[in-house]
Amino acid sequence: MTITEVGAPGLRVDWADQVRRLARERDAVVLAHNYQLPEIQDVAHHTGDSLALSRIAAAAEQSTIVFCGVHFMAETAKILAPEKTVLIPDAAAGCSLADSINAAELREWKAQHPGAVVVSYVNTTAEVKAETDVCCTSSNAVEVVASIPADREVLFLPDQFLGAHVRRITGRENLHVWAGECHVHAGINGAELTARAAEDPSAELFVHPECGCATSALYLAGAGAVEPERVKILSTGGMLDAARETKARSVLVATEVGMLHQLRRAAPEVDFRAVNDRASCHYMKMITPEKLLRALAEGRDEVHVDPDTAERARASVRRMIEIGRPGGGE
Ligand code: SF4
Repeated sequence: MTITEVGAPGLRVDWADQVRRLARERDAVVLAHNYQLPEIQDVAHHTGDSLALSRIAAAAEQSTIVFCGVHFMAETAKILAPEKTVLIPDAAAGCSLADSINAAELREWKAQHPGAVVVSYVNTTAEVKAETDVCCTSSNAVEVVASIPADREVLFLPDQFLGAHVRRITGRENLHVWAGECHVHAGINGAELTARAAEDPSAELFVHPECGCATSALYLAGAGAVEPERVKILSTGGMLDAARETKARSVLVATEVGMLHQLRRAAPEVDFRAVNDRASCHYMKMITPEKLLRALAEGRDEVHVDPDTAERARASVRRMIEIGRPGGGE
């Protein structure tokens, strides 16, 4: 959809042109996560995963960032670009994974394990990042944990699937995992993944490692539920490259269904199918074309992060970027 009705009844305007014009007037860059609605992905100046978009936000020339994604992502952009105005079209767009632990719960957990190193996945609030020693993405979670001296306890949060994957690969007994999960990836279960792969034995399986919704698939692939040679663990950029290069006629995609839009554009001849076509994040879909327009017209909803919290959170995010391959390519 590029045309929508706004303003007085019957007045049809080109929504995409209006978004771009208002963005210019506001000196704003519009960023869209890969799991946004297709029309929002298409109108954005940049589309990508949360880390890639945060880096673009930090380097952007514009004074305002409009982040079409969920709230912790906009917060991460604000942490990395504190001097800029960061807007999210709907501040209520949360994340069930980020909400599975708060700062008070983390402080209590830390008190039970004095001296432990805290490793947090990027799907966390700014307050939790501020209590964290080092953040990680799915791409570098193993390297981040491996960089910690073997005799130090590690508290890994919030995703239990990613934590189980890291524990299995590192063989680390002193890694404690928070029992959090994302409601979307909880829907991509082992039985479904195994059944889909068995139905189409020549299909490849693309697993996107950035958003929490893929981590159960990551775990199952590593555990041998699906033959490893058919499974490709890929960042968004890698997934799009692999889509253009694949010889497979069909590809099963274990992630949030919004990703299918870009994959089908990249390789129209390939049959991309969701492992679970109900794997749609309703928080992501709270960002609508109308709310994006409103954000640009009215300058809302602005994202604020307390400066002290932001400074502490920034340190853990910067450590993440320094270790291994954090991933996050567009
Ligand atoms: S798909 Fe899951 S992890 Fe990703 S934003 Fe939505 S609730 Fe959070």
